[in-house]
Amino acid sequence: MTVAPKREDYDVVVIGAGPAGLAAASTSADAGLSTLLLDENVGPGGQVFRAISSTPVTDRNQLGADYWVGADLVQSLRASNAEVIQRATVWSLDRNLEIAVSIGGASAFVKAKRVILATGALERPFPIPGWTLPGVMTAGAAQTMLKSSALVPDGRTVIAGQGPLLWLLAAQILRLGGRIDRILDTTERGNYFAALPHAFAFLTSPYFTKGLSMMREVKAKVQVVSGVTELAASGDGQLASVSYVAGGKRETIPADLLLLHQGVVPNVNLAMAAGVEHRWDDLQLCWSPVLDASGMSSVTGIAIAGDGAGIGGANAAVVRGRIAARAAVEALAPAAAAKLAPMAALRTELAKAERGRVFLDTLFRPSPQFRIPSGDTIVCRCEEVTAKDVLESVAIGATGPNQLKAYRRTGMGPCQGRLCGLTVTELMAQARGKTPQEIGYYRLRAPVKPITLAELAAVPKTEDDVKAVVRG
Ligand SMILES: Cc1cc2nc3c(=O)[nH]c(=O)nc-3n(C[C@H](O)[C@H](O)[C@H](O)COP(=O)(O)OP(=O)(O)OC[C@H]3O[C@@H](n4cnc5c(N)ncnc54)[C@H](O)[C@@H]3O)c2cc1C
Repeated sequence: MTVAPKREDYDVVVIGAGPAGLAAASTSADAGLSTLLLDENVGPGGQVFRAISSTPVTDRNQLGADYWVGADLVQSLRASNAEVIQRATVWSLDRNLEIAVSIGGASAFVKAKRVILATGALERPFPIPGWTLPGVMTAGAAQTMLKSSALVPDGRTVIAGQGPLLWLLAAQILRLGGRIDRILDTTERGNYFAALPHAFAFLTSPYFTKGLSMMREVKAKVQVVSGVTELAASGDGQLASVSYVAGGKRETIPADLLLLHQGVVPNVNLAMAAGVEHRWDDLQLCWSPVLDASGMSSVTGIAIAGDGAGIGGANAAVVRGRIAARAAVEALAPAAAAKLAPMAALRTELAKAERGRVFLDTLFRPSPQFRIPSGDTIVCRCEEVTAKDVLESVAIGATGPNQLKAYRRTGMGPCQGRLCGLTVTELMAQARGKTPQEIGYYRLRAPVKPITLAELAAVPKTEDDVKAVVRG
């Protein structure tokens, strides 16, 4: 049975049921605001707490204590008056705060006084030769299968890349009895020195002890090759081997599965399509929304919380969700705000949760060769456009990602630039001797997620809508 929103108008609509969205929806509902939480997945939890209400992995040590924090957040949400709809994909949000959501193949429209975008993060593209071969996938995809179905690799498995998630996944796979043959660590040696000035904050943050024990746990069981400077996947229609260079020496190993990961970046599509201003963040090497201290964006009424506001991790996501919700309560029901945690206390909590982040961003800064490919390496997977194609287009006049769409259809496929946008921006910036900020990003529009033409055609139309099209 398809669930539809109970009302047409809400005080607050929260999009995304990860830590930020769960915390935001509970806070605004508990303050007495009519609150709707929409999320595209079968259950709440987002990325970090994926399948928290249904995971077959019941031994809490296997996924780790941090994962089970999600159970309390879901419980608070369920105890609140928030209306929650899962399997609900938001494909449009406009400046009038009108939201279009696809639920069970039918679209519904709701309006909000405040929208809190908590759409989280995506894995950064990792365009190496052969990354589109069957048998090559992201670490996050493997983790999704592990959390939701307890599936772990059993063939010859190589994990390559860098970042906290890579080590977490490796530990989780080993705890569930999965197989890892080799880890190829691409962390640049120079990053250790560059991160040193930020080490104190990291050493005194919860990340240090957790990270260290996880790396030790994995290194005790798996061969780790550090300082990897080149990577390529090969095979005839299917992954057969992985070759890499470390310490100037090249090696090729057989593999059935290659898991790639080099960090996460904000999921910008819905926010950008709604007109929210974003700026290039040179520390996190991604586009981040321009927000005030309460998460309010350049579009009145739209706030962004969680990793969609810039990568801060799960703990920071929860607090950012509470801050954005508190700001909504202050605006819509000031009297109720008095019962909530003071904004100053929330900001102190956020600063604590973000402690050590700059060290992580500097240490795990992905190397240019793994962000900006060359030659026949595919950049745009949807349209199979290579780095060479992009550079040829620049040579004949393409100045930015939007012109490139006309030349090569990059960013016009089902992923709407999620898997090539950053690469295209950086590749064109390098080719034109400009900054990513100067080159810009794709102009994103609704629908930001694929919906069928039948669903679009079934959308209720006003007299004016019909006239506009007919006259047009
Ligand atoms: C694949 C992946 C795995 C990760 N695993 C971990 C981990 O194990 N541990 C950890 O500490 N950190 C992990 N992270 C980092 C993670 O980003 C943060 O820790 C945390 O989950 C961020 O919380 P959030 O609430 O901002 O967003 P998320 O948890 O990412 O939640 C956002 C939610 O919004 C939904 N959504 C997005 N767009 C729409 C739309 N248009 N319509 C409806 N719903 C939408 C998403 O499906 C998701 O459910 C992972 C990140 C990724 C990308």
